[in-house]
Amino acid sequence: MEFARASSVFNAMEPIVVSFFEEHILPNYPLKCSCEKCTTDIIVLTLNHLKPQYTSTQAGQAYIKALYMNPQMQSDILQELARSVQTVESKPQHQPHE
Ligand SMILES: [Zn+2]
Repeated sequence: MEFARASSVFNAMEPIVVSFFEEHILPNYPLKCSCEKCTTDIIVLTLNHLKPQYTSTQAGQAYIKALYMNPQMQSDILQELARSVQTVESKPQHQPHE
């Protein structure tokens, strides 16, 4: 089965959550495991808990920047990221010997 994807539509939270993770979580919070599986799981879990903010690629950069600068959005994202880190660390999905 194939699913069509509207190529000009994307969730603006994706790049925002990734940059918050890299700028605020990684430097300040020593992850128990920073393998690709665990870091991806943290991002995915966070994105699933936050309300998506869909935009078109044309409106993209300005829209993302406005969301990124929003203090309420910043605290929501950080809170959700911190929660996801705890969840993933308590139940890592990676292979034990990786
Ligand atoms: Zn891991």
